[in-house]
Amino acid sequence: MSSHAGQSAVTVLGLGPMGRSLAGAFLDAGLRVTVWNRTPGRDRELVARGAAGARSAAEAVAASTVTVVCVVNNDAVDAILRPEAVTAALKGRTVVNLTADTPDRARDAAAWAAGHGVRYLDGAIMTPAATIGTPAAVFLHSGPEALYREHLPVLEALGGTHTHLGEETGRAAAYDIALLDIFWTAMAGCAHALAVARAEGITGQELAPFAKGIGDILPAIFEEMAREADGGDFPGDDNPITSAVSSMAHIVHTSEAHGIDAGVMRAAEGMARRAVGRGHGADGFTRIAELLGRR
Ligand code: NDP
Repeated sequence: MSSHAGQSAVTVLGLGPMGRSLAGAFLDAGLRVTVWNRTPGRDRELVARGAAGARSAAEAVAASTVTVVCVVNNDAVDAILRPEAVTAALKGRTVVNLTADTPDRARDAAAWAAGHGVRYLDGAIMTPAATIGTPAAVFLHSGPEALYREHLPVLEALGGTHTHLGEETGRAAAYDIALLDIFWTAMAGCAHALAVARAEGITGQELAPFAKGIGDILPAIFEEMAREADGGDFPGDDNPITSAVSSMAHIVHTSEAHGIDAGVMRAAEGMARRAVGRGHGADGFTRIAELLGRR
């Protein structure tokens, strides 16, 4: 897959849990892999499995035509890629940045790359490190389509599904932000529900089967909400916002009666109450998306 004979097929910069999984999957797929991490020593297991451990980021990127970078955020990406020696070594090569950050930071990275002769793709990983190299992994990509197609054979060594969302660089990060919005509010709900259930004498294990039931109804609800949001129609015949407000108030009261902070639910209830206050109490919950988007 490498076009430079004798070079690694791919370099991986950043050996946190995700970077190690990416490098491991490339090795499992039989690619020649060079790795580097800011803190030395994190490459030991990968080197034992056949990766080449570079002594510097510049040496690492010079070893391959494509470099995958996956670190905590784009400040860290900048700290790694923008020193002169690394930038010089990257000239004419490709960076695939799988680090999570904002759409603006993705666009900024692409502008920097364009200004320095570096070919740049941005991406987001939507599944945990343990899925990498398996069919369950989900990767989103954005940036020049021809560049994406050129490197797809290497990216596919990571397993899972790869979706190119468009040439606009910020697009993968924009999907990532919207999807993580769902994820982290759900995670906050899970943590809060466990605390409230425990205060009522219910163990996590007792709650889990019913919690899974709640999870199971969400895909159909999301599809319906998506149709409503796109169509601008928010029927509330079966579940008006007034009913949602009442349900959320019960959660707030029960939590606070146990001395458990209900800030997240108070915020959600507040949004719903504002919708009612603006005369939308009979509408469905998706009306809140429309209200939030008003300028
Ligand atoms: P972290 O997000 O904790 O990132 C750790 C990596 O960032 C290490 O390689 C660390 O180097 C490096 N780093 C941090 N600060 C700097 C810096 N200033 N300069 C250079 N390197 C730095 O762990 P993950 O590997 O889990 O995540 C990497 C990316 O993948 C993140 O953007 C995350 O959101 C995303 N992701 C992770 C998932 C997961 O399951 N782990 C799932 C989906 C996405 P050092 O060892 O030297 O500290």
